[in-house]
Amino acid sequence: MEGEVAKVCPESYAMKGGEGPHSCAQNSASQRSSIEAAKNFLQSAIASKFDLRTICASSTNPICIADLGCSTGPNTFIAVQNVIEAIQIQCPSQQNHNQATPEILVFFNDQVSNDFNTLFQKLPPNRNYFAVGLPGSFYGRLFPRQSLHVVHSSAALSWLSELPKELTDTSSGACNKGKIFYTNAPKEVFDAYERRFKMDLEAFLQARAQELVDNGILACLILVADDLIDFSVDMYAGKDYELLGSCLMDMAKLGLISEEKVDTFNIPTFFPHVKDLMKIFEANKDFSIEQSELIDNKGFLAPNIESHVSRLRAVLEVLIEKHFGDGIVDELFDRFTEKVRAYPEVLDALKFKFHVLFVVLKRKVVIKA
Ligand code: SAH
Repeated sequence: MEGEVAKVCPESYAMKGGEGPHSCAQNSASQRSSIEAAKNFLQSAIASKFDLRTICASSTNPICIADLGCSTGPNTFIAVQNVIEAIQIQCPSQQNHNQATPEILVFFNDQVSNDFNTLFQKLPPNRNYFAVGLPGSFYGRLFPRQSLHVVHSSAALSWLSELPKELTDTSSGACNKGKIFYTNAPKEVFDAYERRFKMDLEAFLQARAQELVDNGILACLILVADDLIDFSVDMYAGKDYELLGSCLMDMAKLGLISEEKVDTFNIPTFFPHVKDLMKIFEANKDFSIEQSELIDNKGFLAPNIESHVSRLRAVLEVLIEKHFGDGIVDELFDRFTEKVRAYPEVLDALKFKFHVLFVVLKRKVVIKA
């Protein structure tokens, strides 16, 4: 095995498991809306860009699909079904009834700390595929060489493999004392996040380039920022995280948590500008860009303050407890709810200048020496 197979994500940021009120399973409507909005693009991309006839005709092996960063469901099941429908329309057996329908194997991947039990319990009982859970970081190798036909990933690549070290280094210009994110912070903080994101995405593409078959498809939904956003001054971008950071500072001032803990806490997500993200894909030698679409974000916003807070809590609770210990999240999110009430603009679609980019890449054919 090669070295990169063993590359392990140093930190693990799984979402809240189970099916409780603050679980990821109950709070993933935003992501679901973009998966649904991307369905037609995904299906037409698979229909036109991926020639399955050759694979179905020449191979007895199953068609292998992976959803990377699947969480606990149910969104992953919808995404996977969308991929399978697109594949089945193309299979020769649809036209020729003498031929067996190809078998389909689906790998559900997420961090080792993901709640795979909930995922397994929720697997659709009448599914038309074999299902496997695959724990591990998608920033390293997860599968054998040339073993996958279609890879899908939604709302997962925003998560960095680790936080940039400079954020907590008091001698660095990128030290992010008193803040928990890069908005309205020194430019060096944004730059440090961006460098980490770029390295991570390149590692992701390098691993997938090895795992996908020639002409295999990689379809990703990625949260992106409007190219017009200047993160160092735009008061609405990341306002949520700023409000949450100010709640943490308030709690530190009251002695409920230590200020040093707040200074060393940063949220490990990054939302690239569309043009910068496309540059990373364009520079990649292993994939061609087949399609890219900006998906309307209106369905992405929560309908009211309570569900807005609950959605953010599902994403951040595990991370916050890991850093600050048990027992602060209820108070923190009560305080946060009050701040959002005083600042309801965070739910305003016009001010929320984030989108979802749907991009389809194709693995270029490997020329064998
Ligand atoms: N795809 C689902 C879930 C998105 S939430 C949907 O669209 O609804 C993002 C998921 O990505 C989380 O479950 C998180 O644990 C996972 N994730 C983040 N970083 C990861 C990594 N390096 N490797 C695998 N999964 C990761």
